Amino acid sequence: MKLTDIIYLVGSGAFGFDLTHNLDCHVYLINGGNELALVDAGIGLATDEILENIKAEGFSFDKIKYLLLTHTHADHAGGAAQMKQALGCDVLVSKDSADFLRNGDEDAINLTFGKQAGFYPEDYRFEPSEVDRELSEGDIISVGGCQIKVLDTPGHCFGHLSFYFESEGKSHLFDGDCIFWGGRILLQNIYDCILQDYVDSIKKLAELSVDVFLPGHLTFSLKDGQRHIDEAAQAVNKLGVPPNLI
Ligand SMILES: [Zn+2]
Repeated sequence: MKLTDIIYLVGSGAFGFDLTHNLDCHVYLINGGNELALVDAGIGLATDEILENIKAEGFSFDKIKYLLLTHTHADHAGGAAQMKQALGCDVLVSKDSADFLRNGDEDAINLTFGKQAGFYPEDYRFEPSEVDRELSEGDIISVGGCQIKVLDTPGHCFGHLSFYFESEGKSHLFDGDCIFWGGRILLQNIYDCILQDYVDSIKKLAELSVDVFLPGHLTFSLKDGQRHIDEAAQAVNKLGVPPNLI
């Protein structure tokens, strides 16, 4: 699904637009011209459907250089190994969560707890993936004509990243599960969801000026995206907590 001249939505589950497997996060494709990148991989239970969507948009797999992961929760990173296998792309993830992915560590990514809570099927397995580059704050990833800046945005979980770039006069933010449409957030009762880190991440994103706002679930905004971040920031600036998704 084409969102703008350079952004496509190629995967999305029940917490989004029902394009692919119901447990997929939004999987975005960035068209940088001679190079492409994916943002997040989905859960890995219907990777073929995501690949079909990429093909249907007319893109060839060999141009896809990178898979950028916002974080290693299963709905975002479970398909990483299959994507790498199918596309031959490099897998990029935060240095704080790289070992979770390399080891397929279901405890570290709270999948064990997620299964008990009924969010994931009991028989689902988080597939380990090679990691080609570990990312941290300020790193730049070149995808054709796009210079994508890495922002550390922990709080939702350890090693959560956001990706920011400007192109054709518009600023773009992929913020994973940090802030959603309407300024909502996703606090969970898990060991690495840390409120104070979350607040700091919201304040950091509030300093941006985002046009195209592309979170990991629910609706995105193709202009004036900063307003969603500002809504979350207003809540934290009053010593409150923004409304939670669950
Ligand atoms: Zn998450």
